[in-house]
Amino acid sequence: SSDEEGGEEYLFKIVIIGDSAVGKSNLLSRYARNEFNPHSKATIGVEFQTQSMDIDGKEVKAQIWDTAGQERFRAVTSAYYRGAVGALVVYDITRRSTFDSVSRWLDELKTHSDTTVARMLVGNKCDLESIRDVTVEEGKSLAESEGLFFMETSALDATNVKTAFEIVIKEIYNNVS
Ligand code: GDP
Ligand code: MG
Repeated sequence: SSDEEGGEEYLFKIVIIGDSAVGKSNLLSRYARNEFNPHSKATIGVEFQTQSMDIDGKEVKAQIWDTAGQERFRAVTSAYYRGAVGALVVYDITRRSTFDSVSRWLDELKTHSDTTVARMLVGNKCDLESIRDVTVEEGKSLAESEGLFFMETSALDATNVKTAFEIVIKEIYNNVS
């Protein structure tokens, strides 16, 4: 679409998925507002946050969706996925069960998407090295076999959070431009 100056503008929908308590809401609040909440409850109210970045001199807006805690009931709706062109699939490096769930989340994403989706596997809570339960190599290897980008992040200390979102946004931009 075109803005009033005649230039192009971009708006990309990105979804964050993964098991409960892996840090999805905190990754988004770290990226969009540079905030971390140690006692976060299930998201209430806000469905998404919009964040802009500049690529090739163009303003690219990412509309990033967070679940309202529905993932606990394995009932993330198709409306949540509708129109998504990017996804962060998040697990917690200190809980192997959340890593084991990744393939189920990928299946669900595939079921609900009708287009190319730029996908990043995110191993969150890398600040908790002393209680790590999933190795970096396991994350990398799963990402490679599924054709995903991969990054370990910490929403707590902000490691790689901006990078993870920006890689996805740039990949979407490459897919559409
Ligand atoms: P969600 O259910 O996936 O949205 O997860 P939340 O963002 O609500 O986070 C669940 C819990 O993990 C909260 O207590 C957070 O404070 C904590 N948490 C989230 N990200 C990190 C992180 O990177 N490191 C650590 N140590 N804790 C985190
Ligand atoms: Mg949440």
